Amino acid sequence: MLEWPLWTLRRPALYYWLAVDALAVAVVAAVALATPPPDSAEITRFGAIAVSSALVIVGTAVVNQMRREEQHNPWAIHVCYLVAGIFALPPSLLVLLLLGPALHGVLVLRPQPHRWMFTTAATALATFAARGVAGWDEPRRDVAMLILAGAAMLVVRGVIVAVGLRLRSPDGATADVLGNPIDVAVGVVAVCVGGMTAMIIDSEPVRALMAAAPMALLERAAQLPHWRRSAQRDAKTGLANAVHWDRLARDELSRANNRNFCAAVLLADLDHFKRVNDRYGHLAGDAALSAVAVLLRSSVRRGDLVGRFGGEEFVLILPDTAPTEAESVAQRLRLSVAALRVAATCADGQPIELAGLTISIGVATTERFGYELYDLLVAADSALLAAKGAGRNLVTVA
Ligand code: GH3
Ligand code: MG
Ligand code: MG
Repeated sequence: MLEWPLWTLRRPALYYWLAVDALAVAVVAAVALATPPPDSAEITRFGAIAVSSALVIVGTAVVNQMRREEQHNPWAIHVCYLVAGIFALPPSLLVLLLLGPALHGVLVLRPQPHRWMFTTAATALATFAARGVAGWDEPRRDVAMLILAGAAMLVVRGVIVAVGLRLRSPDGATADVLGNPIDVAVGVVAVCVGGMTAMIIDSEPVRALMAAAPMALLERAAQLPHWRRSAQRDAKTGLANAVHWDRLARDELSRANNRNFCAAVLLADLDHFKRVNDRYGHLAGDAALSAVAVLLRSSVRRGDLVGRFGGEEFVLILPDTAPTEAESVAQRLRLSVAALRVAATCADGQPIELAGLTISIGVATTERFGYELYDLLVAADSALLAAKGAGRNLVTVA
C-alpha cells in the first residue's frame, strides 16, 4: 500500500482526489440504501439499456482489437446510456448502470487504481447531480430538462476532472486539462441520443437497441482528436511533422505578405549526430532528438512554429521577425543546444548523460528571398551547408 502511485500525487491533489472518492462512495451507498427496490417494468428497461450499450462497448472493443488500434475510454457511449438511465430508471438501478464505466475501466483499460477510482467517482457524482437536476423521484422528460440535466452531467464531470488534473500538474497544457472542442460536441450528441433513448423505451424497451448505431458512431467520432494529432505530429518529438509544418508555414507567409511583415525561416541540423547513435545507441539518439525538440519549442515565442523537417533536422518559421532578430534567435538556440544535457540510456543499458551536442543553423529572411516557402527553404538549406562547411556549431544567414 505504501508504494501505491496515489501517494506520489502532490498534497493538494491527494486531498482533493481522496475527497472526491469519499463523497462518491457516500452518495452511491446512500442512494443504494435509501431507494425502494425497482418494479419489473423498470428492471426490463434497465436490461434493454444495459444490453444495447454492452453490445456496442464489446463490439467496438473487439473491432479495435482486430484492427490493432489503441483501446480508448468510450466515454461517449457511457454518457449515452447513463443519460438514458437518468431519465428512465430509478436511482437504485442507476447505481447498477454505473458499473458500466467502472467495469470497463478495470477489464479493458487497466489504469492505475487511483486514477480508475477518481474518474469513476467523478462519473458517479456527475450522474447523480444530473438526476438531481432532472428530478430525483420522477425525472421530467422534456427537452428543456434534457438540456439542463445533460449540461449538469457534462459540466460537473468536466469540472471535477479538470480541477483534479490541474492540482496534479499545475504546469500541464490547458488542452490536456480541458479536453478538445470535439469532446464537448461528442458529449452533447451523446446526451441527446441518451435522452431520446429514455423517451422511446417506455412501452417497448427493445427500442433501446436503436441507440446502438449512433453510440458506435460516436465512439469513432471521439477518436478524431487522436487521429488528427497523429496525422499532424511527429510521434518521436511531438513537433509538427514536415507536411503539417509546411501547411502552417505557407499560411504564416501569406499572412506576413499581406501585411508586409518580415518573417524568417531557420533550418537546423544536429552536428555529427551519426556519431551519437554509433557511440551510445539509437535509443539514446532518440532521447537527444526529443530533448532538442523540447528545447527548441520552449525557447521561441508561442507564434513561432517549430517542425521536424527530417531525421535530425528541425525547421522553424518566425513570423514578424526582422533579419537581425532572426539571427540572434538562431544564435540563442545554438547556444542552448550546446549547453543541453540529456539523461539517456546507453546501448549496454547503463544510464548516461549526453552533453556537448551542437547544432548548425541556416537562416533565410523574407526581406531577401520573398514570401515563397520553397525559395526560403532553398536559401536556408544553402546557408546551413555553409555553416557545416565552415566548421559546424555555427549560424549562417543567407
Ligand atoms: P552532420 O554534422 O554533417 O550533419 O553529420 P551527421 O552525422 O549529423 O549527418 P548524417 O546525415 O551523416 O547523419 C544523420 C544521422 O541522423 C543519421 C541517423 O543515424 C541519424 N538519425 C536520423 N533520424 C534519426 C532518428 O529518428 N533517431 C536517431 N536515433 N537517429 C536518427
Ligand atoms: Mg546532422
Ligand atoms: Mg541531416
